[in-house]
Amino acid sequence: MGMNDARLSLDEIHSLVLDCLRRHGCDEENAGAVASVITDAERDGCHSHGLMRLAGYVAALDSGKVKGDARPLIGKKAPAIIHVDGNGGFAPLALTESRPHIIEAAKMNGIAAAGLVNVYHFSALWWEIETLAEAGLCAFACTSYIPVVLPAGGKQALYGTNPIAFGWPRNNEPPVVFDQASSVMARGEVMLAAREGKKLADGVGVDMDGNPSNDPNEVLRGAMLAFGGYKGSLIAMMVELLAGPLIGETLSFETAAKDNSDGGPTCGGELILAMDPNLIGTPDLWADHGEKLFKKILAQNEVRLPGDRRYNNRPMATKDGVLVSSKILDEIKSL
Ligand code: NDP
Repeated sequence: MGMNDARLSLDEIHSLVLDCLRRHGCDEENAGAVASVITDAERDGCHSHGLMRLAGYVAALDSGKVKGDARPLIGKKAPAIIHVDGNGGFAPLALTESRPHIIEAAKMNGIAAAGLVNVYHFSALWWEIETLAEAGLCAFACTSYIPVVLPAGGKQALYGTNPIAFGWPRNNEPPVVFDQASSVMARGEVMLAAREGKKLADGVGVDMDGNPSNDPNEVLRGAMLAFGGYKGSLIAMMVELLAGPLIGETLSFETAAKDNSDGGPTCGGELILAMDPNLIGTPDLWADHGEKLFKKILAQNEVRLPGDRRYNNRPMATKDGVLVSSKILDEIKSL
């Protein structure tokens, strides 16, 4: 903890973000949606997608790349296929406004797919997955980025950090949600390490010449490795296709080619799938059946369910607020 770090309540974080974004041209709805994403990330201890990202959101508004008053256009291409055109705005508003449509279509058809296009995504995917799972749906999401990850065996970054997220609804517990980058480490974590002057573990990335490096700044200029060798690299490839050609959006290298490199989020696509276990499986039985697995998992010492770290962080953050580093606060003040 630094000397000038400060403890902010979640309300204070929300207003800080809201005010800042409004001053930079965001309207109430867009600023509110982004503020909720950032506040929830801080509440859950996901600092790499919290206040640290505000400067990037602001950069994208200042450069004119992102429209602060964009309104997502939501339509159906088929009963279970939802098309969300973010209209050049930040993803959070498109996600918030499309959510009830995705839930309704999944409950009607058993499954729904939403292709979000023309959105600027800059955050964690658990945010959209958790709410779908809370509505009783099994959910999946993925999004690409710009080339920062090597295809296994290659020397040139081609894939984004390409996260995938999965959610499983539970009756009397918060949903089981995992959300992971297909790179060894999320880029936000590498950025955080660079800011805090920390070294990276072996095997996270390479420098500009393709040589292994533990220096986060070198790796940010070079490339990251996919997790699990070629297997993670194949997941990253799948995400390129699902969040790109499948839904009519760009591949990571195409996203980079049209980006103005202002340091903000990039324009791309996201695929969201939602499945209703009451329609696909056996009503009333699927939930208890899933619990059998979780019980077995938790019976082993030191094993936890994904999502629990975030859920455990919530009560204290809600009550006592969140410690924000002076570096981040100074940066926000300078905005
Ligand atoms: P982590 O490696 O920190 O965590 C990945 C998942 O594993 C989480 O769901 C986490 O749950 C779970 N987990 C971690 N440790 C354990 C454990 N011991 N047992 C069981 N589950 C565990 O995440 P990443 O660094 O890979 O990604 C961070 C974030 O970055 C993600 O939210 C991702 O969406 C985001 N991202 C966004 C991008 C974008 O373009 N928008 C690009 C790339 C990444 P828990 O939360 O409970 O710890």
